[in-house]
Amino acid sequence: MSTPEKPKCCQRIFGSYATLRVKSCSRYAVVERDGKPYCRQHDPVRVKAAQEKRDEVYRKQSEERQRVYRLQQAAPDLLEALEGIASATCEKWEMSYADFKEQFMPWARNVALAALKKAKGKTK
Ligand SMILES: [Zn+2]
Repeated sequence: MSTPEKPKCCQRIFGSYATLRVKSCSRYAVVERDGKPYCRQHDPVRVKAAQEKRDEVYRKQSEERQRVYRLQQAAPDLLEALEGIASATCEKWEMSYADFKEQFMPWARNVALAALKKAKGKTK
């Protein structure tokens, strides 16, 4: 009479990429989920948690790529605004204070605001 065997993991896995044959996981079960035995690697709770962790990492990487992309797209406009502001405040630049206030400031403000919106990814 044989002793009852410990249950094996019920997860179906690829046995071989050459044959694409599917087989059962050969590990012993360590947990039971919804009445089914699973090894540590295939424990659905652990699998789900690992997937959520990967999704969160991917989401953060994606957000960072979008932020960098927006800044790259806005860089020429930001440079234009900064160069305009820098030259307007240059002592050699000949412009009366009235002209500076009436002509330059609205332009500089609009260019800077548009560039900042682009950099922050805002459409309005
Ligand atoms: Zn398994």
